[in-house]
Amino acid sequence: MPAGKPAGVRCVQLTEGNLCQLFGDPRRPAFCVGLRPSAEMCGASASEALGYLTELEERTRP
Ligand code: SF4
Repeated sequence: MPAGKPAGVRCVQLTEGNLCQLFGDPRRPAFCVGLRPSAEMCGASASEALGYLTELEERTRP
């Protein structure tokens, strides 16, 4: 995504199984490489993780 990934838009590098196609690839964005997910961020399921992200996006919307 050359112009960056807008909030709320699924990354084009995510597979149907929610795996990053660029994992371990030098083209993976520096932000993604540097992100250290926490238990709070991931929750106990993909649904909880998505809820956390949605809340962050709503709280930081301009
Ligand atoms: S880690 Fe980064 S590049 Fe990979 S799927 Fe997630 S947002 Fe996209």
